[in-house]
Amino acid sequence: MRCIRFVLPLVALLAIGASAQTPSTPSKTQNKDSDLVWPLPKLDHFDVNVVDQKLDPCDDFYRFVCSKWMAANPIPADEAYWSTWSNLQIYNETILRNAMQEASRAKGRDAVHQKIGDYWAACMNVEEVNKQGYKPIQPMLDQIAAIKSMADVPAVVVALHKADPGSYTGDDNETVAAMFGYGPTIDFKDASLMVGGFDQGGMALPSRDYYLSDEAKMVAIRKQYVEHVQKMMELIGEKPEQAKADAETVMRMETAMAKAAMDNVRRRDPENINNPMSLEQFIALAPSFDWKTYLKLVDSPTPHHYIVSSPDYFRALEQMLKTESLDNWKAYLRWWEVHENARYLSDPFVNADFEFNAKTLFGQQELEPRWRRCVHWANRDLGYGPLGQAYVEKAFPPASKATTENLVNAIEAAMGQDIHTLDWMSPATQTKAEEKLHAVYDKIGYPDKWRDYSTVKVVPGNIVENVAEASGFESHRQISKIAKPVDREEWGMTPPTINAYYDPQMNTINFPAGILQPPLFDSAKPDEVNYGSIGLVIGHEISHGFDDQGRKFDAKGNLQDWWNPEDAKRYDEKAACISKEYTHDIPELGLKTNGQLTLGEDSADNAGLRMAEIALENNFKKADKSLDEKQSDGWTPRQKFFMAHAFSWCSNMRPEVERFLVTSNPHSIDQYRVNFVDKNSAEFEKAFGCHKGQPMVSDEPCRVW
Ligand SMILES: [Zn+2]
Repeated sequence: MRCIRFVLPLVALLAIGASAQTPSTPSKTQNKDSDLVWPLPKLDHFDVNVVDQKLDPCDDFYRFVCSKWMAANPIPADEAYWSTWSNLQIYNETILRNAMQEASRAKGRDAVHQKIGDYWAACMNVEEVNKQGYKPIQPMLDQIAAIKSMADVPAVVVALHKADPGSYTGDDNETVAAMFGYGPTIDFKDASLMVGGFDQGGMALPSRDYYLSDEAKMVAIRKQYVEHVQKMMELIGEKPEQAKADAETVMRMETAMAKAAMDNVRRRDPENINNPMSLEQFIALAPSFDWKTYLKLVDSPTPHHYIVSSPDYFRALEQMLKTESLDNWKAYLRWWEVHENARYLSDPFVNADFEFNAKTLFGQQELEPRWRRCVHWANRDLGYGPLGQAYVEKAFPPASKATTENLVNAIEAAMGQDIHTLDWMSPATQTKAEEKLHAVYDKIGYPDKWRDYSTVKVVPGNIVENVAEASGFESHRQISKIAKPVDREEWGMTPPTINAYYDPQMNTINFPAGILQPPLFDSAKPDEVNYGSIGLVIGHEISHGFDDQGRKFDAKGNLQDWWNPEDAKRYDEKAACISKEYTHDIPELGLKTNGQLTLGEDSADNAGLRMAEIALENNFKKADKSLDEKQSDGWTPRQKFFMAHAFSWCSNMRPEVERFLVTSNPHSIDQYRVNFVDKNSAEFEKAFGCHKGQPMVSDEPCRVW
């Protein structure tokens, strides 16, 4: 379990889909024309004409900038969320699609292009996939059926963990894997040390709220979930009665796990998840599972110690190990095997998986086209090698890298400047904050060293095997990091990814080439537009090192208090203003947001805007220009800075996505990400001539940085 912070909620990646603007597929010639290249979609670009001048910017700025865009861009049927970044998503995917298509046909390919090409061909071969039915998972189902006692269970859990992507790393709620997660974790007190981490997991719904909330919609989702599990069990040959009983067992077991799991607000505090233990201490939490066999079979080196994110979870697991029958555990493991693989199997599995996991949970109406799913999996499984390289060659020229580096430097300088103007922070803490800022390691575009996938075996005809093989490779690579020095050069996102992150334990900011594109970064646009969009994202990530969570780590990434106690107290008061402001009702959903859950992201949004604006001001001053001088288009550069910021968050989302974000994700919903930040800004107030009493001016503006 790491505390890595993103700029974009991962739902945008979960619910990948296609749009009305998807490049048309020349289907007739698809398998014949070796020169076939799919055209790239048109990207969204900020333009002042996007705003609705009939609306008052001081009333609802998000609507002022986004309402015309929102009306013109309804959510496509095969999407759950559609934003000004969505065409870029398809743009990036199309580049990968072309690269893989090319590699699947090229004659005399080298070994790496063979892998990419065969992965693609196997994935796109729907006829073969349908012919196979669920045969590809039969060996694993047989292994589960052959379990004779609890002593056989660890080997099965290892096999599941190795074959399913992601069992070694946690998200905001859990590690999504059968029973629990295990993987490399940087020690909280000594960031040079890679240890082993055990995390809560085992829940297939998006977070514990989905199991425990009494809210009507959540109760309904649970009923649909049980029906879904039953359906999947029937698809692997169980009789309806057996499948129904198994589904109820799965629900009962996962609910018990959810009850014992640490909630996502407590999980945000690194002190809560930092529970270092010896192996013996850990085993004592849940002695009924053979942990030594698990660690041996998963090929784990022996770390100095283990970190257990939530000991209570493992205590509860022990109770379950003692009380649930072997048959119940076998049903649970069967469910996880089919759940993790359904999307790669034949149509009945794909459709049933879509009905619940995309339609019921996220409101997506139609399944996205297969090519997009294949691109998504290939990027996940092989994206740090030649596939990522192909993207960089096509979409990220050296000039883009140089410009972004300059932007990052300018915004880091702005943060340094800002630190010394804070009247609430003592000079001693200011110096420490600046030290931490200078120690931030900037990673831009793509890794210096591409990953070597030469040991990954890719076969032409079997996507399930290819996914399992690539996952096994990645699982092994991850687990092998344990007890080795921490590698600060490593990337946690592939180059085409549209996202960015700050890693507090490595003290690095990371901006993949995929996000350094229009509408976020647009070399044809003036500074005020780029600072308002990508500049703010950069400021957001840098300031994560100084949000309520990040501030607890020092320049080296150690969880160590470097704050003068009075400064820390004042910080907490200022942060409380933000969490109070962002806690509010969402009447249309019957839900209330939790400002404690979103505090880190909201702080980063507020600080990000400020840093980007200071940096932009510095630029203008240097050129002897004013940010507040009206230009020929009728707007001042400062106004365009705020407008470009809002534009980069224009979106339409289905209510199911809002529900997921509010209950399970630390990012606020887009409209609040824009409006609350602006409401706290005196410069916004001035730029648009707003005044106290209007909705876009806060009575008590919050500001930390
Ligand atoms: Zn963030």
